[in-house]
Amino acid sequence: ATPISIMVATGRGAQAGVLIRNAEALERLASVNTIVVDKTGTLTEGKPTLTGIETVSGFPEPVLLGMAAALESGSEHPLAEAIVKAARDRKTPVGKAVDFQAVTGQGVKGTVDGRAVLLGNARLMESANVPVKPLRDAADRRRSKGETVMFVAVDGTLAGLVAVSDPVRETTPAAIDALHALGLKVVMATGDSQATAEAVGSQLGIDAIHAGVTPEDKSRIVADLQKTGARVAMAGDGVNDAPALAGADVGIAMGAGADVAVESAGLTLMTGDLGGIVRARTLATATMRNIR
Ligand code: ADP
Ligand code: MG
Repeated sequence: ATPISIMVATGRGAQAGVLIRNAEALERLASVNTIVVDKTGTLTEGKPTLTGIETVSGFPEPVLLGMAAALESGSEHPLAEAIVKAARDRKTPVGKAVDFQAVTGQGVKGTVDGRAVLLGNARLMESANVPVKPLRDAADRRRSKGETVMFVAVDGTLAGLVAVSDPVRETTPAAIDALHALGLKVVMATGDSQATAEAVGSQLGIDAIHAGVTPEDKSRIVADLQKTGARVAMAGDGVNDAPALAGADVGIAMGAGADVAVESAGLTLMTGDLGGIVRARTLATATMRNIR
């Protein structure tokens, strides 16, 4: 790649909201054939809103929401914001949390008004030996509609669930069609449940879905694809995406993501949507074509 053509591409990229770290990142983007993306915030808007609360054996809904919001005030996760905002909107009394602890990719725990509260996915409940059976059907019903379900346990017993919905970005369907037309495979890797991921992914024509994955799993998915000969771009925004971003042929940090995501990436997109990837890829191919 000639320095001039890279400079031109870098300038054009900046105008289109694509920040290119170096010539190598651009070259690699032109040659990838597979792109791995996160669901929350990349395919979806990343601004979930509360859609429902369900409780077990008469546990009062406002108490459940108040406890959940108390814990989530200590978390920066988009799911936490949805719960805190719902409590504020409903003017629900929010308790005071102590001993707050975040479990990455699983949820949060702590003590609220003297009671031990656990809030998060099925894996978190499993590791605390809290059976989720009483709410399994309710959870599945919501997941099949694309909602994200978080279980709440109080003093070691399942008390209820809170569900949120995070709409697919308006630009996502067209961007996926465009990536397919450019010959790219699109793979989803998400920490959310299989059923939720499928409800979102199947309506978009995603080529493969990996759900319930940890940050380490995300790196492994990238490495496994590379072992089959694929050249892989990974797009993500979170701290939990950083290892996979660093391991991919090219890492793409999405939008105003975590600093560590930006540092691990060869490209940064100012807008967090997939449309930016289409623009970046088109620019990369055009630049490499001119060089040859
Ligand atoms: P993603 O890969 O979509 O960014 P994460 O790895 O951050 O997802 O989280 C995976 C799952 O863990 C979530 O779908 C949720 O069920 C649970 N979880 C993570 N953080 C929180 C939190 N702060 N509050 C409740 N649940 C959480
Ligand atoms: Mg994420």
